[in-house]
Formats: sequence, C-alpha cells, structure tokens
Amino acid sequence: MKVFFGVDIGGTGVKFGAFDQNGQLIDKWSILTNLSDSGQKIIPDVVKSINTYIARKEGLYNIGGIGMGIPGPVDKKGYVKTCVNLHWTEFNPVEELKKEFPDVAIAAGNDANVAALGEYYRGAGKEYSSMMLITLGTGVGGGIVIDGKVLLGANGLAGEVGHISGGIAETEKCNCGNVGCIDQFASATGIVRIMKKLLNEQDGFSKLCNKEKFTAKDVCMAAEQGDELALQCIDICMSALGTGLAFFSHAFDPEVYVIGGGVSRAGGLIIDVIKKAYLKRLFLIDKGADIKLATLGNDAGIIGACMLVMNGE
Ligand SMILES: [Zn+2]
Repeated sequence: MKVFFGVDIGGTGVKFGAFDQNGQLIDKWSILTNLSDSGQKIIPDVVKSINTYIARKEGLYNIGGIGMGIPGPVDKKGYVKTCVNLHWTEFNPVEELKKEFPDVAIAAGNDANVAALGEYYRGAGKEYSSMMLITLGTGVGGGIVIDGKVLLGANGLAGEVGHISGGIAETEKCNCGNVGCIDQFASATGIVRIMKKLLNEQDGFSKLCNKEKFTAKDVCMAAEQGDELALQCIDICMSALGTGLAFFSHAFDPEVYVIGGGVSRAGGLIIDVIKKAYLKRLFLIDKGADIKLATLGNDAGIIGACMLVMNGE
C-alpha cells in the first residue's frame, strides 16, 4: 500500500502524519526539532523517522509522497531564503529529501498556507471553493486557498494578513514598523497589550486588575465570565480583525473565513465580534462571507502537508 506523509516542521517539534491513498490519517507521531548545526540535522531526522516507520511495516507500505510545512517563506521549488525558527539560510529541504528519496514526490510550503490547505480539504472549509484561514497565535498569520490551490502571490506574501494596517486607530508602533496592524490587536500578544492599556486607562473593574502577569487565555476566560474590561478588550481586538476581513472581501471575496490558532479557542465569543465589525465595513453586499472556527486544531499542518503533495502542487 502507498502511504503519504504530512510533516509539519516547527521550531520545537516535528509532527508526522501517515495517510492512505484517500488521504485518511493512519498514524501520527512527533519528534523534537534538533536546531544544532544551523538546523542541518532536521531533514536527516525526518528521513530517519520516515524510514523507521516504513521498516516497522515490514514491506507492506511504500512511500507515495512527502509534504512538508515550514515556518517561514518557501518558494514554489521549496527554496527557503531564511527561516529564523529553524536556523536555515539559503536551504532547500525538498532537494535534501530528494537525495534520500529520489523517486518520491516531495513538496514543501509555508506552514500557514499548508494549514489552510488542510482546513480547506478536511476541516471548516470543506464545503467551500474559496477560503481564507486566519491563525491567531503569538502573531497573526493566514493562508488563502482558491479552487484547491494556495494563493502564493509574486513574493509569497499572499495571506500574510497580520501586517495589514489601516482603518484602525493606533499610535503605538508594531514590531514591523507600521502602525495599526491587525497583529497589534488580534494576536495573543495584541490581546494582552490592549488589556494592559485598558487596565491602566479605564476605571471599570476587572478581575485582572491585581494580576502582574496574564495571558490572552486569561483575558478570554475573564470575558466569558462577563468581566467588563475583558469584554471591552475582546471587542477592540476582534473588531480590528473584522475590519481586516472586510478588506479581504473587497479584494478577493472568499466564501468563508476560517479562524484558527490558540486564540480561536475562545470560540463563539470572538466570532460574534468579528462578524459584527466585518459586516459594518462591507460595501455593495449585505451578507458577506461565512466566518467559522477551524476544526482540525493541531492536525491542520500534517493534513495540509499531505494534501500539498497528494495534489501535486
Ligand atoms: Zn505590523
């Protein structure tokens, strides 16, 4: 039987998924990322892990393809100019894997784009032909899939939604140098930043008043329990994202926005606010795209990486 591997390479761990010919997950496992030697041990570790898996199946499985998600920009041929998280510079993981598996189809893509592909085929986007995934983590990332293809753009910049700025009042600078980026609000870092601001400037009561340190999760949980300032914080942060989504609808009008990443665990609380701000900014149409929560969680990366190579992209 042919098996396809979806490999999600991150700065701390490498996740593996083994899939059958229909793209159904058979097995999954993970290993730690070895960043020593400028990240040059990562691909040999991937090779070893896949070979060990195949050997354990005693000739029953052979490799149909290997897809990889990389936490940085990747061009169509798999070339990575720099990937800070993996310590790679001017490296091509596809060519490296090809040396070990010369007859196997191998593909690599940016991890957010790969996760978008996963949600598109197997998750919240599967009923739609065009979709945009927005991941709300430490930063804000995203990927665009139209008719089953990831939109890369001329420079691989498409879907890098975190640093779209405009339409949001802000004076503080984002780490990219701009002012008023979506990242400054809708990321976990952004939520904590806005909450601190509110605690300093507003009189309203919050259970986070006396806390030295808190996380975006704490803010979301407080908001769920009706905490006045936390609700205000979520309103500011997710309205900024909703405003951003209206930009995208006016640019390429996707059928659905899928919201993923750690912050999305806040669920309905954030979706309602995003929707309200989104609809307020829409022009010409009154309904707009659907806005849904991602459904694959941490598996989006391995599933998408498998789809990437299965679809021969
Ligand atoms: Zn920015």
